[in-house]
Amino acid sequence: MSHHFNSPDDVTIAVIGDGFGALLVYTTAVYMGFDPRRIGIFGESTNPVGTYQQFAWNLGQTVLRSESESHFLPADWPTFAQMDAVARRDVTPLFRSIGRKFNPGVSEMLSEAAIVWKSLGYEHRVLGGRKIGWISREPGTPPYFSLYDEDGELVARARHAMLAIGHGPLAFTPVCQAARDNPKTADRVVQAYEAKRYQAGGRYMVIGSGIASVNEWVNILDAGAECIALRRNPQPEEQDLNVPRCLFDGSGIDAFQTLSFDQRLDFLGQALRGTSPSRRGWGDRVAQGRQAGMFDELVGDIASIDSGSAGLSVTVKALNGNQVALDLTGIVAGTGFVKSALSLPLFRRLVEHYGVPLERERIQLKTNCGVPPLDRPDSRLCMMGIQANTVVPNGDTIAGLKYIARRFVGDVARAEKLRRRSFPSRLAMQVGLARKTVRALRAVRKTEQLA
Ligand SMILES: Cc1cc2nc3c(=O)[nH]c(=O)nc-3n(C[C@H](O)[C@H](O)[C@H](O)COP(=O)(O)OP(=O)(O)OC[C@H]3O[C@@H](n4cnc5c(N)ncnc54)[C@H](O)[C@@H]3O)c2cc1C
Repeated sequence: MSHHFNSPDDVTIAVIGDGFGALLVYTTAVYMGFDPRRIGIFGESTNPVGTYQQFAWNLGQTVLRSESESHFLPADWPTFAQMDAVARRDVTPLFRSIGRKFNPGVSEMLSEAAIVWKSLGYEHRVLGGRKIGWISREPGTPPYFSLYDEDGELVARARHAMLAIGHGPLAFTPVCQAARDNPKTADRVVQAYEAKRYQAGGRYMVIGSGIASVNEWVNILDAGAECIALRRNPQPEEQDLNVPRCLFDGSGIDAFQTLSFDQRLDFLGQALRGTSPSRRGWGDRVAQGRQAGMFDELVGDIASIDSGSAGLSVTVKALNGNQVALDLTGIVAGTGFVKSALSLPLFRRLVEHYGVPLERERIQLKTNCGVPPLDRPDSRLCMMGIQANTVVPNGDTIAGLKYIARRFVGDVARAEKLRRRSFPSRLAMQVGLARKTVRALRAVRKTEQLA
């Protein structure tokens, strides 16, 4: 370390952001042999699953979409199904996993995450407790970055940095946005990712047919209300996860990276659009609802939203050109997050100041997730999560975040000539964390599988 790096918040690896990505970079770095004191997490929360947990709670998500290999131990083995099977002395997770029908329960997965972060001292490395508003590349040798908070105060200096700040704001169609801005209708139009309560006997419209929307269909039916599913495309493709599974392994990611940036954006647009899963639990529930006259589908677009006798008076322009008028209790938009990098102030400033290249409002990352022109081999600046899905299509899943974390930490280890943790020490760490996870799972109520 040079003389630049002697105040407590000067670190070798900085993670900007405090979510899943931050935890996975941290565990990967500690596992590889970095002293935790060389790592700093920069964000407001010491709980790396808090942001996700809030979304999962709002959606009523009980099992993860991802499968057995996606979890928080530093290495992938043992898989989550294996630990679950040992903990509950029940082999069904193993058979389900062979058939690719095992999805870890949310409470089980978050218990594992807590074991990992508490055991590895993650919360002691959350420094500053503030959001980062500005990053500057400092000239000279050795190269480093200065991190500033939103008020322009220096928070830390770092040799390498990972941007892991998650999603942009929630997205609404213009008609829904206008209804949100109108005090008469504002509280009846919500996003699937927001907290909400359904009234028994009410009538709700759900926009979209992605996973979040399907989830809300079931939540509405379960609440004893009527559900109208509105979508644009007559035929959504069937996909269990947001991205086709073939893209989750290394060869899929490599093939994806050989496409041009434009081709990648188009592909993601196709792959992520209107994918709805057909799971037995959900499918059955919707079929029952349809039979009972509580579930209906419409293909078209909302033309107008006004206040009305039931709460809202809505017109839909159907695909065949007909206008349909509906009285509704509320509208739920499963329209996800704003994808533009410019919707995140930190990125917008980097684009404006350093000329970080953009294409169709997404940052044009290098294939190693580096941010040009700031990234360099001896002082890396990388990005992970949803913002990196133009390079790693599942960049916003546990598996994709782990993949990016490993590549990044590997590069940093080489640049820093790290003396790596010995194999026996890594094994002891992995086995120790797996044992603790198994013990913790025994105390968690088993979540029902849906696939
Ligand atoms: C409802 C839902 C269900 C999902 N289900 C699955 C699943 O089943 N399996 C799976 O693999 N993935 C799933 N995902 C996707 C993914 O794993 C999560 O979104 C994951 O939390 C992404 O991690 P992240 O670190 O990129 O972002 P986040 O976990 O969102 O963390 C980013 C954090 O950075 C903070 N931050 C923002 N700006 C700044 C700043 N300027 N400075 C410092 N901090 C900042 C934010 O407040 C936030 O806490 C799901 C996502 C959602 C929303």
